[in-house]
Amino acid sequence: MATRSVSEYAREALKQIAIRRLQPTPDNYQAVYDEISGRVSQPPFPIARLRQIARILPGQTPAQRRVLEQFSTAVDAQDWSALQNALVAYASLGMTPVSASPPEGEVAMGALPTAFAERLARLVDNILPALGEDDTRVRTLATELTQWLRQTSPETATAEKLLDNFSYRLSFASEDQAAIRAGLLTLLQLVFDNIAVLSPDDTWLHGQAQALREAATPPLTLRRIDEVQIRLKDVILKQRESRERAVQAQQQMRTLLATFIDRLAEMDESSANYHAQLTDCAERISHVSNVQELGPLLQEVMRATHDMTQSSRAMRTELHDLRERADASTAEIEHLREELERTSAQARHDPLTGSLNRKGLEEALEREVSRARRIDAPLCIALLDIDNFKLLNDRLGHAAGDAALVHLVKTTRSVMRPQDQLARFGGEEFVLVLPDTSLEQGVQAMKRLQRELTTHYFMQGEERTLITFSAGVAQLGHDESSSAAVKRADQAMYLAKRSGKNRVVAA
Ligand code: GH3
Ligand code: MG
Ligand code: MG
Repeated sequence: MATRSVSEYAREALKQIAIRRLQPTPDNYQAVYDEISGRVSQPPFPIARLRQIARILPGQTPAQRRVLEQFSTAVDAQDWSALQNALVAYASLGMTPVSASPPEGEVAMGALPTAFAERLARLVDNILPALGEDDTRVRTLATELTQWLRQTSPETATAEKLLDNFSYRLSFASEDQAAIRAGLLTLLQLVFDNIAVLSPDDTWLHGQAQALREAATPPLTLRRIDEVQIRLKDVILKQRESRERAVQAQQQMRTLLATFIDRLAEMDESSANYHAQLTDCAERISHVSNVQELGPLLQEVMRATHDMTQSSRAMRTELHDLRERADASTAEIEHLREELERTSAQARHDPLTGSLNRKGLEEALEREVSRARRIDAPLCIALLDIDNFKLLNDRLGHAAGDAALVHLVKTTRSVMRPQDQLARFGGEEFVLVLPDTSLEQGVQAMKRLQRELTTHYFMQGEERTLITFSAGVAQLGHDESSSAAVKRADQAMYLAKRSGKNRVVAA
């Protein structure tokens, strides 16, 4: 097609607008003109709209202000490609790595706030000790992560990547730790079982093994691990002591036995000599021809007999002595065995209910009082006495009374926290040691136990019996001894009895 002049295109465009009955607007004219001329015209630069946009673009940080300046210059110059660069710069503000530290107090876009990053780093530091030394890879990843986090305004994207790596590895490491812990516990239980199996006749060791097994059953707390340690140390100490003394006693027995055998041999030898002397004398007597010769021979027989009697007597005394010493050694060994039995698994526990006994209570109080003082935490001591227990005994029998005590202890344990301790203070009196507990909380805890007993009846055959108790609660004073606090709790318990029983009184 031959090229036409601009005026021809213009004329033709107007004609087409009339033919097509289009509105004679600048846009329609432009469109028809472009169609006829075969060109695309450039739309005008939307300067006003773009300036409007520039007014609402963010310009708080230096980086934003710099890009905003770039944008405004591009609009003024009506330069599309400069405008495009400015927009791209805006878009990448959130992702640009921070090459230089931003000014103080200002966080670059795409970077973690320094304080937050430090907290994350500390979290990672705190996790590490729980993982032990077994997994070096997780430690390396942790070091990489914390080093990155401890830069000024660390870049988020890299921190995320390092965090992902660490947390992926951490999931394996913590699973491993849980498995190792479970494995060690099983091993420990096996050792305890083994102690029991190896010494089926030794009731003392049996008791200890059973107590250790119970103490090492999850859920574990530091307190219970402490208990296991104390118990094991007791076992080791007692066994070492008794073994040393038993070895000594055995050594003595052995020496005695050897002396005994020596003496027997000597006795045998001296009686053989005596026999020989007598035989010799008898022989010589048979050849005696006169009485004068008989005198010296008789003297000889009498001397030999006298010697024999003397040595027999000495021997008898010595043997008697030996026997007494042997008996003493046997008694010593028996005494040791009894002592071991006495310091058995029940040394700190009441055999009927399994709660602590007085000695166990003393130790628990000592531990808890010093802990409470150390960390400045409140400590409560409660003393409870079962109401009308004598009546229960009289009505149902002593064995039922025993079962009622066991029921009370079981119910108490079910409402107590693991750190609380329960001890049998006397016949039907119990003491509770409640760490981190204020007076008000202590009273509430005892009331909770009262409620629990009203829902969990003591069953004796078909008969349901409601066990109630009266209790006094004392919070340990700053300079107060534990025995003084127990005494106050006892006085408060007495008040509870006097005011009608089945109540809790704060001291
Ligand atoms: P109160 O409400 O005033 O405490 O009356 P109570 O009958 O509970 O108190 P009391 O002190 O008069 O009697 C306590 C009884 O507890 C007497 C004793 O036989 C009994 N008892 C103590 N220890 C045991 C035990 O180990 N087993 C049994 N079955 N009874 C026990
Ligand atoms: Mg009593
Ligand atoms: Mg009573």
